[in-house]
Amino acid sequence: MARRYKGHMNGERYLANTNPSKKEVHDLDNEKTGRNECQIDEIISAGNDKPYNSQKAANDAGYNNCTHCIGDSER
Ligand SMILES: [Zn+2]
Repeated sequence: MARRYKGHMNGERYLANTNPSKKEVHDLDNEKTGRNECQIDEIISAGNDKPYNSQKAANDAGYNNCTHCIGDSER
């Protein structure tokens, strides 16, 4: 899989899931596509995708790192 150009995404590396029960950021260059892993397309389909160009910016906005594609989750 790769970076997306649909939903709110326009090729940015990081995608944050704005779903209040998730609040995670994913690294699309290291996306994991297994069942119950990143599920990026489901996030976009739900309209919960928010683009970021840096992981730190997403972290600073309150998003935790996805355990599958980034790791080091602080949760
Ligand atoms: Zn992920």
